[in-house]
Amino acid sequence: MEDALLIFTAFWLGAALGSFANAAAMRTAADKKWWGSERSVCDSCGRTLSARDLIPVVSFIALGGRCRMCGAKIPLRHFTAELAAAAVLSFCAWRFGLSSAFFFSAAALPFMAFHSLTDIETGYIYDSWAIAMAACGLLLRIPHGVGAAADGAFGAAAGFALMAAILIASRGKMGFGDAMLAMGIGAFMGLKMTILALYLGFLAGGITVLPLLIAKKVTRKTAVPFAPFLFAGMLAAMFFGKFILLLFGFSPSWPWL
Ligand SMILES: [Zn+2]
Repeated sequence: MEDALLIFTAFWLGAALGSFANAAAMRTAADKKWWGSERSVCDSCGRTLSARDLIPVVSFIALGGRCRMCGAKIPLRHFTAELAAAAVLSFCAWRFGLSSAFFFSAAALPFMAFHSLTDIETGYIYDSWAIAMAACGLLLRIPHGVGAAADGAFGAAAGFALMAAILIASRGKMGFGDAMLAMGIGAFMGLKMTILALYLGFLAGGITVLPLLIAKKVTRKTAVPFAPFLFAGMLAAMFFGKFILLLFGFSPSWPWL
């Protein structure tokens, strides 16, 4: 019963975080401020949206995916981002229960959704938000003691160094922003889980891109956004990292126990 309540709460929290991250990503990509007085408006008729139009997941379904005033189609990206974030955080709640790992995943989610969306839309990782992510991960670790904070700092350093090395070896096919993002991931994941998350991220990227290369849908020169794959690798490490580490004789570290 308590588990069901936590998963239910996590679904709506995830939907709200996904909605926020999506709006922030769109405004950042459009070079607009996303705090202050600027209200959300319909892209077609320009009408200011009211609270009942902005309920994550629910409004889109209730409105049949169309604007209440002009009937224009609401971009599917809003609904997709909200539902995906809701699904991810529900799964985290189911997997971790009410634990530090759950709070870490909830705090990392809006950052990863934001970076994935801006990378897909603009091909750009916003450094300041990668640094903010790293700072957030480190701050969450400090109350748990020096060891936990040091693990986050080592994770951030390793994430940055590994990605920067790959970036240099690949001669600029990947953006420097990916190294900044790996630093943010590292602060949340800690040293061992960061290495695993990056490995799984490259695996996910390879599995996705290789068939596209073979089918000639993309070429070696195509700039494929890598943040979504890093996000996938991070999630896979969160969910299965403990078992993979144990399999190879490593002990998982807090909070991914
Ligand atoms: Zn409209």
